[in-house]
Amino acid sequence: MDCPTCKAWAEVKDTRQRKEDNTRYRRYECANGHRFSTREAVLPPETAIQARMANLAKARKAYQERRA
Ligand SMILES: [Zn+2]
Repeated sequence: MDCPTCKAWAEVKDTRQRKEDNTRYRRYECANGHRFSTREAVLPPETAIQARMANLAKARKAYQERRA
């Protein structure tokens, strides 16, 4: 994972698993001392498909508006 501030390589300092909602938090620290954290979650397959469909619909609409 690259540091969002300086793009240097950052290493994981801490990982926390939350059982309640199946998410994982990671704390990072980069070579220049910047700290940030990420949250990881499993997306239900339906959600991913719906998101893709929504993107497709948006792209199609933009395409049609451009042609009109
Ligand atoms: Zn940094």
